[in-house]
Amino acid sequence: MKKIIAGIIICLFLVAEAVSAKGNLDFTLHKLESGLPGNTLVVIGGIQGDEPGGFNAASLLVTHYRILKGSVWVVPNLNFISIIRRSRGVYGDLNRKFATIKSTDPELKTIEKIKAIILDDRADVILNLHDGSGFYRPTHIDWARNPSRWGQSLIIDQERIEADKFGNLGEIARKIVADVNHHLYAGEHAFHVKDTKTCLGNIEMSKTLTYFAIRNAKPAFGVEASKKFPTHKRAYYHLRALEYYMKLMGIEYQRNFDLSAKEIRNAIRGNSKLAFYDKRIFLDVGNARKRLGYIPLKLNSRIEFTPSNPLITIVGNEKCYRVYHGNRSLTRIHPEYFEYDSSIRGITMQIDGHEKDVDFGEMVEVDESFSVLPEKGYRVNVIGFTRPGISNEAGMSICRKDIPKRFSVDRTGQIYRVEIYREKKFSGMVLVNFGVRPKNLLASNPLMPSLPRHYGITPLLTEVLQSR
Ligand SMILES: [Zn+2]
Repeated sequence: MKKIIAGIIICLFLVAEAVSAKGNLDFTLHKLESGLPGNTLVVIGGIQGDEPGGFNAASLLVTHYRILKGSVWVVPNLNFISIIRRSRGVYGDLNRKFATIKSTDPELKTIEKIKAIILDDRADVILNLHDGSGFYRPTHIDWARNPSRWGQSLIIDQERIEADKFGNLGEIARKIVADVNHHLYAGEHAFHVKDTKTCLGNIEMSKTLTYFAIRNAKPAFGVEASKKFPTHKRAYYHLRALEYYMKLMGIEYQRNFDLSAKEIRNAIRGNSKLAFYDKRIFLDVGNARKRLGYIPLKLNSRIEFTPSNPLITIVGNEKCYRVYHGNRSLTRIHPEYFEYDSSIRGITMQIDGHEKDVDFGEMVEVDESFSVLPEKGYRVNVIGFTRPGISNEAGMSICRKDIPKRFSVDRTGQIYRVEIYREKKFSGMVLVNFGVRPKNLLASNPLMPSLPRHYGITPLLTEVLQSR
C-alpha cells in the first residue's frame, strides 16, 4: 500500500510538471531594432531541441549584440519544451509541420505564430539554425563526409525565387560560404552549399520552415553547424554565418566579445542569472549547487522572474522549481514562502572597512570581511552564519571562515546569501562573493537589452503574439 501511494505521489508530481511545462513554454521573439531604416533579418533557433549550437548562437545575438542599422528579429527558443528535454521533438519533428498540421497537434499554435513572423511584411530574409550530422560534402568521401550529411553547410531549397530582394538564394549562399571559409579552425571544417531541390519531389524537405518561407516569396536558408563539434564551436560557425548575412543585408552591429569559440564558451557560461520579484532576489545559477533550499519566495503570488538570457526558464510547482539554461538543468529551487516587505530597497554594509549602500539584488565582492549596519526594525540573516543567542546578525563582522561552505549558493563555496527581514516579512537579499568574479551581469553587461520578465512559469513575450 505504501508503495502504491508513493507511486501515485511521484506520478502526480511528474504530471504537474509536464502539464505546466507543456502549457507555458512559449517561444520568445526579440526584436533588435536599430531605429534606423534598413533590412530585417529573422533568425530562428531551437526548432529541434537537441541542436544547442544553433539556439545558443541565436541567444547570444539577443544578449551580446547591439544592432546599429536595420533590424534583427530573433526567436532563440522555438521548441522550448524540447530544448529543456534535450529532445529533437517532444511532439515529433516541428520542422516537418509547415506543409500540413493536424488541428489537434499540440504545436499548432507554435506553427501559426512562427508562420506569422515569417510572413510579416518587414521580414526580408529568414535563417533557420541547425546542428547537423557529420560534414556535408558534394561527393562521397567516407561515412561522415558525404552528400547525405548536413553539418557545415548552407541549405537552400532551390537556386532562386521570385522576391523583391535577396531572391538569388544560390548566389547568396555561395557568397556566405566563401566568407565563412576564411575563418575556419581547420580546413576540413569548410562549409558547402547544399541544394535540396525541394520542388523536384523532395517530400521531407517540402514540410520544412524554409520551404514554407520560399513558397511565400520569403528568401530563406538553413544554416547547419556540425554536431561533431562542442556547442561553443558550433555557435562560432553559426555566428560567423550570421554576421556575413548581416553584412550582406547592410545591417550594422556591435558585439561585446571577440568572435572565437573560447570567448563564446565564456559568454554562454557567464550568463546564467535570475532575478526574482523586481530584483529583491538575484541568483547566479551558472555554477549553482544542485539544490538551493529555503529561497524566500512570495506567499500567495505567482513566481515572477527575469532571466539573463532567453534560454533560461523555470518549470515545476510551488514545492520545487527546476532552473534550465537551454539543454542544461542548472539547479532546483526549494522555496520557503513569505509575505514581502517593500519599505526599503537595500541596505548599508561595511565591506573590508568601507561603508557602501547596496541595493537588493546586487552581489558585492568581499576580500576579508563584511557587516550589515543595523537598521531599527530590520533583522539580518546571513545564511549559514550562527552565533549562540543571536537572531539578528546586523553589526557582526563576518569572514568567509565564519560560514560553513555547504551554505554557499555556488559549488565552489564563494557566494553567500544575506537576507533582510522586517518582523516576519522578507525585505530582500544581497549576495556576498568572497571569490573574484565578474560583477552582477544584469547590471554590468552594457549591451544586454532588458529581457522580458516572466510571470508564473509563463514567459512574457517581448512582443505579445496573438494566435490567429
Ligand atoms: Zn536540425
